[in-house]
Amino acid sequence: VTDRLLAGLDVGGTKTLAAAVDPGGVVVATIRMATRHGADGLLVTAEEALRRLCAELGVEPGDLEAVGVGVPGVVDQAAGSVRFAVNLGIDGQAVALGEHLAAVSGAPVVVDNDVNAAAVGAAAVLGTGDDLAYLSVGTGVAAGLVLDGRLRRGRRGIAGEIGHLPLDPAGPPCGCGQRGCLEVLTSGAALGRRWVVPDGGSPAVALAIAAGAGDTEARRLLDDLGGHLATAVTVLALAVDTDVIVLGGGVAEAGPVLLDAVRAALVRRAERTPLLVQLDLASRVILLPDGTPAGAIGAALGARNLVG
Ligand SMILES: [Zn+2]
Repeated sequence: VTDRLLAGLDVGGTKTLAAAVDPGGVVVATIRMATRHGADGLLVTAEEALRRLCAELGVEPGDLEAVGVGVPGVVDQAAGSVRFAVNLGIDGQAVALGEHLAAVSGAPVVVDNDVNAAAVGAAAVLGTGDDLAYLSVGTGVAAGLVLDGRLRRGRRGIAGEIGHLPLDPAGPPCGCGQRGCLEVLTSGAALGRRWVVPDGGSPAVALAIAAGAGDTEARRLLDDLGGHLATAVTVLALAVDTDVIVLGGGVAEAGPVLLDAVRAALVRRAERTPLLVQLDLASRVILLPDGTPAGAIGAALGARNLVG
């Protein structure tokens, strides 16, 4: 039975999560570990995550049907390599991640962008079938698009990179060279600058708690964030018109309080706009269920799809 298992790795800037998925898409084991940075750090992290997952399952890496990896960087899927993974300390030099894991496991390995992997995982977990936009709001901000059952990568691999949509020309400078991008207004780092939390806690979660407790400044900041994310949701709906738009990533861990703020902004804008009334965006935006390892699941399923 175990020879049909798929492994998926979701490599994040601070932690890496690995999941084993059975042929029906059910998660049968997960492990979590800290991510090491740099090219060697990435290879060591991925190999160790895979070995620990196999130890948890009592199988050898060679018993797996396929291995998928989601990484936050520019991926060359044919080569199985990643570059410009800024949060992993990887620059323009390509890291041969797929080759390394294939040597470790003997199984086919598929490397993909982490947001694309999470979009595939979210579609599987939520049962939305073949149509979904996944908006990841975390260290970076980007969307993954599953359209008519297929992941839309784009001709240059840039489909869904709406984090660099300039929303406020007078806003703060973004690393991309523009000002007021969606990412500099809504990312976890951006939030952390405006809502400072001690001891490395999540600013999004702290903000949601403070807003829930009636803190006026927290409420204002949350409404501001909700408004920017409502714009992102509108852009996605107008561009690709998926049934649902799913919010995920570290900032979305703020949970229902954040979702309510996004929905309130969408409802407010629709009051003046028959087009938006018809789109009914407030009911189409949902949260990824808390603690769902969508990135790891999607990496595993994506590997099967490409290998199978
Ligand atoms: Zn930008």
